[in-house]
Amino acid sequence: MHPAELVIWLLVFLLGASVSSFLNVVAYRLPKGESFVYPSSHCPHCQRPLRPLDLIPVASWLWNRGQCRYCKARIHLRYLLVEIIGGAGFVWIYNEIDGAGSLILAVSLFCILLTVTLTDLSYRLIPNRILYPAYVYFYILMLLFSERTWWEPLAGFLFGGGVLLAVAMIAERFYAQAMGGGDIKLMALVGLVLGIKQTLLCLFFSSLLGAVIGLVLIALRILKRQEGLPYGPFISLAAWIIFLYGQAIMQGYMQLYV
Ligand SMILES: [Zn+2]
Repeated sequence: MHPAELVIWLLVFLLGASVSSFLNVVAYRLPKGESFVYPSSHCPHCQRPLRPLDLIPVASWLWNRGQCRYCKARIHLRYLLVEIIGGAGFVWIYNEIDGAGSLILAVSLFCILLTVTLTDLSYRLIPNRILYPAYVYFYILMLLFSERTWWEPLAGFLFGGGVLLAVAMIAERFYAQAMGGGDIKLMALVGLVLGIKQTLLCLFFSSLLGAVIGLVLIALRILKRQEGLPYGPFISLAAWIIFLYGQAIMQGYMQLYV
């Protein structure tokens, strides 16, 4: 590999880590109705604002060994993990996606899926204040940058939301509440971006992922049987994989039958 390529990778990684660090703040503050622009980043324990050097993602966490450098309180591992995932995600996009339009679509999708994953993990909530503007924003992106007709995203939207709504209504008759409204609305957004066929794949993958990981966590006694897992992170992960590789997966599947 050319050294210049390595430098570009590093820059792309740092960009992704910084963006995800901001999204982490959004995901933490927005459901509580706090502004995510003001106050600027500060230590959650001693409230001291962070200096520019503290804002270098990943490196500052490692350098300070996961502690605030003023009050020595522990900074949660989540901050480091989110930055690494964001950085790796941007490098992943940089390697997989060509063309400005596709790049904008991919980065936007990655950011929104990461944000709703974080709100769902922290609060078991996917805020409408994120989803509703996202419907409009992604519909415009689909019209501008995808090869789909104007109605395909709308059909996918109705399909994704409709299937989960039906599942939720049936499940509610037999069990307790199985799915939140946020999951249904998130799947509608996924449908808008992926279209009907790939959304079907996403429904399948996300429930499989949720079931397997749920069983593993129960077996390891990390999770109690009755607790249930938030579904949003699984929808997000499945949607992301299918956004990148859905076409290849479906072609491979078709070839089994030819
Ligand atoms: Zn502190």
